Amino acid sequence: MSRSRLIIAIDGPAASGKSTTARLVAERLGYVYIDTGAMYRALTYAALRAGVDPGDQVRMERLADECVIELHLDDERRLRVFLNGRDVSGDIRTPEVTANVSMVSAYAGVRRRLVELQRNIGAGGGIVMDGRDIGTVVFPDADVKIFMVADIRARAERRKAELHTLGNDVTLTGLALQLEERDRLDSTRDVSPLRKADDAVEIDTSSLSIEEQVERVVGLALERAGE
Ligand code: C5P
Repeated sequence: MSRSRLIIAIDGPAASGKSTTARLVAERLGYVYIDTGAMYRALTYAALRAGVDPGDQVRMERLADECVIELHLDDERRLRVFLNGRDVSGDIRTPEVTANVSMVSAYAGVRRRLVELQRNIGAGGGIVMDGRDIGTVVFPDADVKIFMVADIRARAERRKAELHTLGNDVTLTGLALQLEERDRLDSTRDVSPLRKADDAVEIDTSSLSIEEQVERVVGLALERAGE
């Protein structure tokens, strides 16, 4: 039986090209793009702002229950992240949030809360969701599962270009070390570690253009929708 409103899951390590691809695939298919990393970032930002120690699991899990995290598209169809009604899209990309987010996302109670939210948002299909555990935990029955990888140099260069636009100056070597450390934490945690689902299609984006990445995923989606 064919399903036209698919669930497309895109997982992979940091800066492997997931979010740009996911956003453009969603645009092409008329789907909604959900950036789950932004949710973990919003909670980390909430803690730093409220003076809550991100290392305190009990307080972080309580904070996860109390915070209202929402994603909305603005007039130009860009995804904005709201924390308790306030737009924090810029605040969640600071080096301080990035340095603490992997610790926060490893807590079982935090994941339980955010995964529930992600399932509610995506249940009706017609979504492209990117993260670390979408194809393995959030939507293990997703219609299309992608695992994106890229070599560390390509990833560090992409992240540098993004940060440059945001006005943060960092070296390529420093960025590569930060990305590798975050991947290490994300793939060795006990709860929902970053890993490729057995039935995911791996796409190495090291030498692909964004258009090529988008084409590959859209192609898989159309194939699946036509089954
Ligand atoms: O995708 P992004 O790099 O913004 O994600 C930030 C962090 O959020 C990741 O390094 C990871 O610790 C956490 N994350 C997660 N599960 C997801 C998405 C993100 O643990 N589904």
